[in-house]
Amino acid sequence: MKNDSIWKDNVDLGEIEELNKNLEVDVLIIGGGITGLSTAYHLINKDLKVALVEKRRIGLGITSKTTGKITFLQENIYSKLNKYHDEKTAKLYLDSQIEAINIIRNTIKQNKIKCDFYKVDSFLFTNDPNKIKLIKDEKEILEKFSIKVNEYTELPNKDKVKYAISVSDTYVFHPLKYLSELKKILKKNNIPIYENTKVESITKENDLFVCKTNAFSIKSKKVVLALHYPYFIFPFLTPFKTTLEKSYIGAKKCPSFLEFSAINTNKPTESIRYHKDKGNSYEINLMSSHNIAIKNNDSKNFENLLKSTNSNYDYMWSNIDIITNDYLPYIGKIDNNLLIGTGYNTWGMTNATLAGKVLSDSILEQENEYIELLNPKRGMNLAKIINFPIIIGSSIKSFIGSKINKNKSWYSDNIKFETRDGKNIAIYIDEEGKEHIVYNKCPHVKCSLIFNEVEKTWDCPCHGSRFDLDGRCIEGPSNYDICYKKDS
Ligand SMILES: Cc1cc2nc3c(=O)[nH]c(=O)nc-3n(C[C@H](O)[C@H](O)[C@H](O)COP(=O)(O)OP(=O)(O)OC[C@H]3O[C@@H](n4cnc5c(N)ncnc54)[C@H](O)[C@@H]3O)c2cc1C
Repeated sequence: MKNDSIWKDNVDLGEIEELNKNLEVDVLIIGGGITGLSTAYHLINKDLKVALVEKRRIGLGITSKTTGKITFLQENIYSKLNKYHDEKTAKLYLDSQIEAINIIRNTIKQNKIKCDFYKVDSFLFTNDPNKIKLIKDEKEILEKFSIKVNEYTELPNKDKVKYAISVSDTYVFHPLKYLSELKKILKKNNIPIYENTKVESITKENDLFVCKTNAFSIKSKKVVLALHYPYFIFPFLTPFKTTLEKSYIGAKKCPSFLEFSAINTNKPTESIRYHKDKGNSYEINLMSSHNIAIKNNDSKNFENLLKSTNSNYDYMWSNIDIITNDYLPYIGKIDNNLLIGTGYNTWGMTNATLAGKVLSDSILEQENEYIELLNPKRGMNLAKIINFPIIIGSSIKSFIGSKINKNKSWYSDNIKFETRDGKNIAIYIDEEGKEHIVYNKCPHVKCSLIFNEVEKTWDCPCHGSRFDLDGRCIEGPSNYDICYKKDS
């Protein structure tokens, strides 16, 4: 079993070019996930000097660990938008998702991208009789918006369910193959991509942003923060606006590729899709989404995935996404020259693609009908602020829990916690007896870390930053590493 995402296996990410000089550009895109590459794609041949920087390899952030469904059937989003906003907002969001699906389909077709892109019907199901009404409401609103919806009591894999609906014209793909082809297209069209190039600070000098990496600086008129978590803007993602949700995924070989994907309405989330590659078919299951600060024992969550799906997996991994409190993403201008794309509510294949179009249109000063809908400076949803004490309470509990190291009982003997030079350190001893030492404190708000024994990462129980065995930051909101230095 591989403790990593299926998408990272055998994918060619192309050659690495690192930044080796100072630069001055019109537009700098920071972050080489689906948001960054999709934005750069729409800036090809627009008479602008554009560059993209990525701190590791392109695609290896959150996008490499998605389930890769491209669909507008996103749980009961349209009923929620109708309830918390209005019908017009729900319809506009639906239009935006269908437009994003069309952009992905056209990009793949025009560039003949090979990324295991298949048309499959999307299902929404429940096994809880109390949730049937939620799905019926979603059906009603989708039909009002002229979407054809079918009803079932069985999924195409013959699993019996209490109630399900399905829609057509939705897809699945291999997200990393898609991004690696986008990378080639961008490079061919003179948009340089610098990998292993981390932006460490952003300041303003007259009308230019100065983005410093460890050795060089890039001056740019406009900057797009395509970081997943836009931590350079402080404090943008307050708990009033977002929460973080973690899920556990497994992929296993199966006899055949089935042309559907499905998700349930209730928690814990259950989702399924199929993938085929080089004659092999895989079933991909996702189970148990939870707020990052609650139920954060990863080993137990992986165990639950194994038990509830009664499976052995060839690949297992976890992933975190940003959930917005008003159900809409944050895409657009923070000020005239600083733009962000984030908060995709676990539907980033469509929403990041949409971000690519909306952000590039904003940069090019072209009209786009979704700019107002997604405006990152919009007000907060007062109804959802009711959740604030619960979320803050969970974070404080995680923070204190992490400090008293209650979690030690979770770990096997190859994990140790010590104090060296007055600093708390954590040690992982690998199969060959080698010690991997890190500082046991997340640089973001100083929570102590939890060891994820399945993926071999140090994860922050408060805000979801993740670090590899030797302390390199894999995912934010921290932008700093926790590598132990002997003499420090
Ligand atoms: C469990 C799970 C399943 C999901 N399944 C689906 C699905 O089926 N369909 C769907 O539509 N969506 C899905 N999503 C959502 C989707 O995966 C994400 O919303 C999307 O991938 C986010 O893309 P991104 O480009 O914003 O972030 P990322 O892919 O994380 O890209 C950000 C990049 O910025 C880089 N970076 C960060 N800091 C710096 C810095 N200082 N300097 C330079 N580079 C930096 C990172 O290394 C990273 O590569 C899922 C999410 C989860 C959690």
